[in-house]
Amino acid sequence: MNTLDNPEEEDQKAAEVQVSQSDTMAASSAAMDGVAAAALRSVLQRVHQAAERSGRGSNRIRVVAVSKTKPVSVIRQVYDAGHRYFGENYVQELIDKAPQLPEDIEWHFIGNLQSNKVKPLLAGVPNLAMVESVDDQKIANHLDRAVASLGRKPLKVLVQVNTSGEESKFGVEPSGCVELAKHVSMGCPSLEFCGLMTIGMLDYSSTPENFKTLSNCRSEVCKALGMPEEQCELSMGMSNDFEQAIECGSTNVRIGSTIFGAREYSKKK
Ligand SMILES: *Cc1c(COP(=O)(O)O)cnc(C)c1O
Repeated sequence: MNTLDNPEEEDQKAAEVQVSQSDTMAASSAAMDGVAAAALRSVLQRVHQAAERSGRGSNRIRVVAVSKTKPVSVIRQVYDAGHRYFGENYVQELIDKAPQLPEDIEWHFIGNLQSNKVKPLLAGVPNLAMVESVDDQKIANHLDRAVASLGRKPLKVLVQVNTSGEESKFGVEPSGCVELAKHVSMGCPSLEFCGLMTIGMLDYSSTPENFKTLSNCRSEVCKALGMPEEQCELSMGMSNDFEQAIECGSTNVRIGSTIFGAREYSKKK
């Protein structure tokens, strides 16, 4: 419809005022978004340098941009800057955002997952690429059955390990990682076991000890499964510690605030 056909001049004026206000808002949010795209480039550069220090190519390290609490418009700008890997840790938030964004995004679910949210997550996010946070057999079984019943291709999963010993942290104890990895790999035909994930310390500043613990878990798991270590991912490293994590062998870093800015939970809708 042509808006010039609108006969009601007063309405038209009101609409113009609104348009110019939203133009200003769009402009300032575009400036913000430019910040996120620039921050992404800087992170990719730092990842590249850390990869070189660890004697690896940065094309072997995936950067998951963690967009929790951030609006779709800002995610879109990071997407437009060429990025395709994004992570969320609340099911409902991911279900809301994913359909508003391009289908070639590879979503990583990185939060605690409850059994009753498995179906909505898988049904609502066809382009869910990986669940990084499988921490017991029950959730693995739920995922396995849901993938099978939806007829989707096998879902990539990581086993989350609690390497910090903090009780509030989710994740299987290091001593239990082999058993859980075996269960996923051998008992869940619709899941593809891809490696291990850890969050590290509560203050998000992990020590190399956390990273070494995860790396040791990988050695044990790979021995038990007869899996080459190069094929077993290590998801570790966040905004404050991703370079160190890469130097300790991380293949997947999850970076939120350094790309998107600080999270403002109070404003969360
Ligand atoms: C929020 C979150 C991140 C990103 O944290 P930043 O410190 O903002 O980079 C990474 N991993 C998990 C599991 C998270 O929940």
